[in-house]
Amino acid sequence: MRPCVPLCERTYQPGPDARALPAEAGAYALVLTIAESVQLPVPRPNGCTLSPGLYVYLGNARGPGGIAARVRRHLRPDKRPRWHVDHVLARAEVRCVLGWPGGEECAWQRWLSERGASAPVKGLGSSDCRRCPAHLLAVPDVATVTGGR
Ligand SMILES: [Zn+2]
Repeated sequence: MRPCVPLCERTYQPGPDARALPAEAGAYALVLTIAESVQLPVPRPNGCTLSPGLYVYLGNARGPGGIAARVRRHLRPDKRPRWHVDHVLARAEVRCVLGWPGGEECAWQRWLSERGASAPVKGLGSSDCRRCPAHLLAVPDVATVTGGR
């Protein structure tokens, strides 16, 4: 396991700065504020409501354009929802974006879980992952995600 350092090189603000995101493959984190409860369009035994709060969504970008292209898609307001996280993003404010070129979102998930992140909805954002409780995590503050920077 890597030492207790941020797993990302820097943070990015949504908007024009997103163009500066790395075009390499790797992992990214979207830090989200949800102001009002979000009802997800997925029936689950325990219901599927996200309470207001601070969240981080972890994803990976392996396709053309790497992290930059994937994050730009997430930030586009007019896209058709494709992943469950799109329904969350439609009701969230993206605070900042972190990129980890060559990184892996599951390692990031473990790193965050060791620092107090929790998975409010099991499997949310991680339907293609059998190891993590979720790839959308509730976090106590932004510093938890950025490693204190
Ligand atoms: Zn995972």
